[in-house]
Order: sequence, then structure tokens, then C-alpha cells
Amino acid sequence: MMAQYRAIRSSLPDEVILFFRLGDFYEMFFEDAIQAASILDITLTKRHEVPMCGVPYHASAAYLEKLIKAGRKVAICEQTEEATQSKGVVKREIKQIITPGTILDEMQLSQAQHHFIASLWSNEKGRWGWAQLDLSTGEFWAEEINSQEEIYAHIVRYQPQEILIAKSQHERISLPESVRNQTTQLDAWIFHHNQATDSLKKQFKVLSLDGLGLMDAPLGVGAAGALIYYLKQRLHRDLSHVHAISVRKTEDYLILDETTITNLELVKVMHSHAASQETTLLATLDSTQTPMGGRLLREWMLRPLNRRDQIIERQESVAYLHESHMRLTTLRDLLKPIGDMHRIISRITTSRATNPRDMLALKHILMQLPKLKATQDASHDNLLNTLLAEIEPLPDLLTEIDQAVADESPTHLRDGGVIKAGYDSELDELRHLSLHGKEWLANFQAEEALKHDIKNLKIRYNRVFGYYIEVSKSQLDRVPSHYIRKQTLAQAERYVVPELTEKAEQIQSAEDKAILRETHLFEQLQHKVDALSQVIFHNASLLAQIDVLSALAERALTLQYTQPEIIDDNSLTISQGRHPVIEQLLVAERFVANDCMLDINEQQLIMLTGPNMAGKSTYIRQVALLVLMAHMGSFIPADHARIGVRDRIFTRVGASDDLARGRSTFMVEMQETAQILHAATSKSLVILDEIGRGTSTYDGVSIAWSVAEYLTSREEKPLTLFATHYHELARLAEAHTGVKNYCVKVEEHGNEITFLRIIAPGATDKSYGIQVARLAGVPTAVIQRAETILQQLENPVDDLPTSKKSHRKSSILPDSTKNQLDLW
Ligand code: ADP
Ligand code: MG
Repeated sequence: MMAQYRAIRSSLPDEVILFFRLGDFYEMFFEDAIQAASILDITLTKRHEVPMCGVPYHASAAYLEKLIKAGRKVAICEQTEEATQSKGVVKREIKQIITPGTILDEMQLSQAQHHFIASLWSNEKGRWGWAQLDLSTGEFWAEEINSQEEIYAHIVRYQPQEILIAKSQHERISLPESVRNQTTQLDAWIFHHNQATDSLKKQFKVLSLDGLGLMDAPLGVGAAGALIYYLKQRLHRDLSHVHAISVRKTEDYLILDETTITNLELVKVMHSHAASQETTLLATLDSTQTPMGGRLLREWMLRPLNRRDQIIERQESVAYLHESHMRLTTLRDLLKPIGDMHRIISRITTSRATNPRDMLALKHILMQLPKLKATQDASHDNLLNTLLAEIEPLPDLLTEIDQAVADESPTHLRDGGVIKAGYDSELDELRHLSLHGKEWLANFQAEEALKHDIKNLKIRYNRVFGYYIEVSKSQLDRVPSHYIRKQTLAQAERYVVPELTEKAEQIQSAEDKAILRETHLFEQLQHKVDALSQVIFHNASLLAQIDVLSALAERALTLQYTQPEIIDDNSLTISQGRHPVIEQLLVAERFVANDCMLDINEQQLIMLTGPNMAGKSTYIRQVALLVLMAHMGSFIPADHARIGVRDRIFTRVGASDDLARGRSTFMVEMQETAQILHAATSKSLVILDEIGRGTSTYDGVSIAWSVAEYLTSREEKPLTLFATHYHELARLAEAHTGVKNYCVKVEEHGNEITFLRIIAPGATDKSYGIQVARLAGVPTAVIQRAETILQQLENPVDDLPTSKKSHRKSSILPDSTKNQLDLW
């Protein structure tokens, strides 16, 4: 056996731990054992000087998960024949290799999120191919990417559990810390065009890739082909549920970079101390009824559209459902029982599912399909009705499953009782035999007890000698002589008689045969599902879209959103907009709605000043969120709005607002700012929050000033919202027509202030820092001292020769902003 172990072990790379099946355990040996014992915190033992440890087969999932989380891969080696069949060592072979991207144990898969494995392949010119696959749902796509930033954004967006990269290329990109130990390096030939094309052609059983739309994406082909090769050849995975690959183009979406996704708290809150994970935009908008709908909504949010006609197509369907409460409720009620159709069908078709309950779940899904389809209203031509019309109910399959599978099926086939009576005559007969046998046993027990006058004579069963007769000690004198004694216990004796043994064998074999027959019938049914799986998958994707459209309509109704008008010009107008997340969080206060107008000519850059805590960040993020929601096809929290289609949304937050991310702050702030200054176009929306705050006041004001100035003086002028508590920046508007000052209103009474949360034209001339400090509970003595110091600073003593009243301000600001323009 050790020779067999060594042969199998040597076929695996070092980093893989081998689970070697021995009876009811997976055993590990040598170095594997030493490492696994320490990761899993289990006992390491030694036999013949060989270190070893093991985990029970039935509880292996939890151990497996722990090893994978520790960044290891695990090869599962099973016995492929019964110990009784073999002459020498039992045959064993590797069934699967489990990696972070391919662990599919139900208990650790989040329903809300895909579980992706991604693959990267690059050419000399710095262009990248990206492919990703969710094994649990079969979803698979490829894309070509022009910049590393977009790869970082994808990593934040899709959180792949594993990333494949060619050995020769992993130096070309520095992947974020969070995924670095989840990369798997493969030989470059696996990605090469011919090899990759071959892998894809085999997977999709096609003669050429033309039909798959991959002609223009050679790097995508490399990444996708390697992914398939790795899963099939290296990990021995069943990919029969991966029917198609789609191709995406970066240009088809509104671009959100990594920082923007994080800053806007779309799917995850930034600071761990925040009240709860529910305060994201996704949590606010996600009222989907199915997990696949939830995953699709996430996708729509992280990849909004950038084409007016496509956005309007979604909007029209949301509006259509928004108009009829009845229609919406009916639809959502029908969707509710659908469940995670993608994952159910994947489990059935990759035959990991011998769980009969999945088949029942599929039956309930199939029962919903005709009802959903029937809600279609041909008189309204819109996306929703097109999707409904496309649903393809499968009545024959439904009938078949209904006739075959019992409603109260156990979770395992081996427990029997899965196939309904009347479905198969052979099975019925076997069941009859075994049932009949049980009756015979009951009769036999009664008769023997009577015949020999042994009241407590019992027929019992155990694995060692099957059915036997048990008589308690007190009645042993009546036991007839033809009973053959098998075992003596403290209180009883156990006997067999030939008549019983013979009958028992018949019963047992009928039961075994019945289970075998059931398994066979169930597998046949699985094959029928398999044959239709493409249609079922397509239905699932339709339902996911229908679910998201109805969720958006439901949110619009419940949260009083309106349909924004999507326009092609370079402006945006929002009247009485609200922050979708914060308005839900406020309990005591009412959220104060505000307008926003941006226009490439008149008002391209809004300089928003106001004291700390006034509501600046909330306001500018709100504008970004509403614009983003509009690009998803969603309604938005505003009285009405007209939004020009954008190509990108950028958001940057000044360093000290961003401490929790633990990055060296000012440097990062500047790098991110640089990126905007390079990449923003006049179709972009730029949100800058306290840029320059991460350094000293003079530096900060100067940098903020010049960044704003650059954004308004260059050729490509993005629509920009710039929030700052440096009220000095308000003077920028004097020299630039596109720049307009706004401030957050506060009401002053004596030493105190009240935040009004109203955004109004004009600049703030004061920081109100001391008032805010007072509101925050800083001791009175400190506040008073601060007031004194402030007075001295604002009215410098006369012995400074150059000082004037405005000394402080003018020394910070450039004298002539006009001259500076030449610099650009
Ligand atoms: P700033 O960026 O000016 O320091 P924030 O935008 O962080 O201020 O706002 C501080 C707090 O004020 C927010 O957490 C929120 O609770 C509240 N707030 C902001 N805007 C509004 C509003 N429009 N209506 C009601 N409360 C608001
Ligand atoms: Mg702020």
C-alpha cells in the first residue's frame, strides 16, 4: 500500500496535500501529515517511523475547508473497488483536486455571491485577457482589458477565490495582497493560442471558435482556454454544465475603478466599525426573490451600462411593473419559490448531487415556469415581456420527475424510498418481496413464541449474523433443540434456525436490489435532466433578469423613487435628491433633500465648502450614487432628474477620511488623484472629497487648488463635485467661469451652530471648527482657549510689518490665478 501511496503522491505537485482514503478515513502521511496536523490541530502519530494523521470520511468537509482557507490544495484519492473484490492492495485513484476556486461544499458558498475562479493572460503590449468561471452555476465569460487598474477593479468586483496566471507572466502584474496566496501558476503553453483554442473547442464541442464570438479576443481565449484545461486536466472536474462562454467588452459598461467601488460602499462598507453590513447600496436595493437574482443585481450594480438605449430598455420594464402593483406582486410571488436554480441544476448535472431533494426542488421550479410565462402581456413590447415569452417550460420533464420522485424523499439514495410506487414494476416487485418478508418475520416470531411458549422470544437483526432469535435467560429451558446457539449475552441467548436464515437472505437481497434499482432509475432521470440542462440554464438566466427588474420596481414603489430621464447631452440635473442609504438609516432626523445641477459650460465644477460634519461628503456621494443607479436602469430617490450618460465615475477621498484602509495615506491619495487627472474625460463624473487633506494646510490647499484648476482648464472637462472644508478654495470661482461655489448651510446662534443640511449657492467664509469641537463635547476650557488663539491669528499684532487683516488668507492663495493657468 505504501508503494501505491508513493506512486500517487509523486504524481502531484508539492503544494497539494493528499487525502488518501483508507476505510472510513482520509489519511495523510509524511510531510503532508506534519503540515496538515498543525493546520487542522489534530494529533500527529507515527507508525513504522512514518508520520501520519487522518480525518473521518463523513466529517471531511470541515477539515477540507480549513486546509483550503489556509491556502492549500487537497487531492482526494478514493478506493475504486471494494476491499472484498480485490486480491492484493485495493485500487485507488485521484478523483478530484480541490482548490480555493473550486471548493463547492454547500455550507461555505455564499448565496449572495458568485464563487469565481479567474484566469489572466497578457501579451507584450500590456493588454490582458481575463476569463472567469463559477463552477457552482456554470457561468463563464472572457474579456480583454487594457489596463492593470481594470484588473484591480475586477478583483474587487468579483472577488475571485483563485487566479490562474502563467509562470512567465506573474512578474508583470503585482496583484493585491488579498489574492496573492490564491494565485496558481501554470506553464505558459497552457495559455498559448493553439492549446487554449483546442481546450475550448473540446469543451464546447465545436469545430471553430467563430460561433462563440471569441475571434476578436485572442487574449481572452488564452485565459479561458487555460481555465478549462486546468479544471479538467489538472483538477479532474466535471464541466458538463458549462455550456457557453460569453464575451464582454469593457467599452460596454460604465467604468468604476477599484477605489470608487470601495468609496461608494456599493457592496461592502469601508470601515469595520460601521453599524452593520446592511448599509451598502446593494443591501438597500436588493429585494430580489432568488439568490441568482441577487447575484445578477450585484453584477448590474458593479457593471452599470453606458448606452442610453440599453438603460432605457431596462427602465421601461421597471416602469411597467411600477405602474401595476398587482402585476408586480403576482410576479414576485411566483418567483419566490424558485430558489437557487443555477446551483440546483449544476449539482444535478455534475452528478455531485445524489441528493434526491435537489430533484424535488427542480420539480417545484418547473411547476412555476408555465405560471410565470403566463404573466406575459403581449400587448406591451418591453424587455420584461420578451424575457417572459422566452421562458420554455418543460412539461414532459416535470411529469417524469413528478411520477418518479416521492415527495418525502430522504436526502440520500441509499436510504431508499426515493422512487414512487407505481413508477417501475420491477422496483414494485422487489419492494413487495421485502415487505412481504417483513410480514413473514412478524408471523414467524408470533408462531414460534406460541409453539414453544416463550413469551419474550424476539426476532432481531444485526450486521454480524443477520436475523436471529433472542430468548431471555429466564426462559431458556423452553428453547427447542433445533435452535442453533450463536451468542451468549448476560441476559439472553441468541439462536439461528435454517428456515429463518434462508428467508432473511431473500429479504435482504430484495432490499439491496430495490436500492440498486432505485439508484439506477434515479440516474436515468438525472440523464434526462442532463439532456435538457441547456434549456434549464437558459430559463434560470431569464428568471434572474426578471427577478432583478421586479426588485427594482418594488424598491422604486416602496422607497418612493422616480424614473430619471436619460439624456445624451453633457449635463445632469437632480431635483430634490436623497442619499439612498443614509435616508434609510436616519431615525430621529429627516433626511434633507437637495438639488444638483452640473453642466459642461455653465457649471462644470461645484466647489462645495462647509464645516466638518455639515453634510458635504454625504451630498457628493449621493450625486455619484444616483448617477450610478440611473445607469443600472434603476429609479432613483429624487423628485425628478435628467442625467447625461457617463463613461466613468471617479471618486477620491482625502487621506484622513480614509485611515481605516491602513494604506500610507497621502501617497495613495496623490496616486489616485493622478489617475483621475490622466483618465477623466468630459463624459466622466468626478467626485473629490477633501483632496489635499492628507498633508499640511498650506500644501493641502495648494494641491487642492491646482487639482481643481486643472480639471476645469483642460480640454476634457469632467463634471466635477469638489468638497472641502478649506473655505479658501471658494476663491477659485472668481477666475473660472465653469466653477461655482456652493456651501452647506449652518445656522449660527451665538457660539453655537445648527446644521441645516441645505446645499445653497455661495461660499462659506468660516470653518466653524471651534463650534464643531464644542458640539463634539470638547471641554469648555479648551474651547475658550481655542477662541482666544483664533482671535490672535485673525488679528495679528501690529509689530509684524506686512500684516493686514487678511494676512492669513492672502498668504495661502496665489496672487494671480491667471498667470498660473499658463502652467497647464
Ligand atoms: P462632512 O463631509 O461635511 O463632514 P458628512 O457628509 O459626513 O459631513 O455628514 C455628517 C452627517 O450628517 C452624516 O453622517 C449624516 O448623518 C448627516 N447628514 C448629512 N447630510 C444629511 C442630509 N441631507 N439630511 C440629513 N442628515 C444628513
Ligand atoms: Mg466629509
